[in-house]
Amino acid sequence: MPINLILLGPPGAGKGTQSSRLEDAHGMVQLSTGDMLRAAVKAETPLGLEAKAVMAAGDLVSDDIVSGLIGERLDQLGADTGVIFDGYPRTRAQAEALDALLAERGRHLDHVIELVVDEDALVDRITGRFTCAACGAGYHDRYKQPLEAGVCDVCGGTDFKRRPDDTEETVRKRMAEYRAKTAPILPLYDARGIVSRVDGMANIDAVTQSIEGILDAG
Ligand code: AMP
Repeated sequence: MPINLILLGPPGAGKGTQSSRLEDAHGMVQLSTGDMLRAAVKAETPLGLEAKAVMAAGDLVSDDIVSGLIGERLDQLGADTGVIFDGYPRTRAQAEALDALLAERGRHLDHVIELVVDEDALVDRITGRFTCAACGAGYHDRYKQPLEAGVCDVCGGTDFKRRPDDTEETVRKRMAEYRAKTAPILPLYDARGIVSRVDGMANIDAVTQSIEGILDAG
């Protein structure tokens, strides 16, 4: 049976980083509603045009839209491909929709891994981050500048970009949304005994190791 797991945590907790490591190590597929929405905004699809202002303000896009996106993606996967849900579900309604989407496809949720973090440190982490526009390699104003200023270490690209919603004001708003709407879905999963908590402030490798330990334990 393929593994289905949710990585839960506020923006900047490291969900995206850990998801791509799990993809590489286990051949799983990351389903990130944030990435899907950003792609729709970039392609200027009707959905993207609708979502753009909502995202820029740090508000949540409607439950129906994101659950619809997840359903479409699940249908494109082989039955034995494991899935990491990143940034979804974010509300109780989405958590219920996910249960139904999985059940309809003969899947079930194995793990909910919560990355526990310090919010003030996260604001610092997020507001400094930027990526290479060509290859997506991640950098940070204070913690990880390219070795040669203005040149990507990985591909040599010279064009960098920042997410428009990575400003302090929007980050605080996204965190408030997490506290108000997303954290309250944890008890639902706690009741099923599938929640594990990992210290998201540890270094990236240590977080990966903790997650691997949870998967190994079944
Ligand atoms: P993320 O990349 O996960 O931080 O998402 C960026 C933005 O996309 C969020 O601040 C929301 O505006 C929107 N978004 C992403 N995933 C969801 C979701 N599951 N439900 C509602 N809005 C979402």
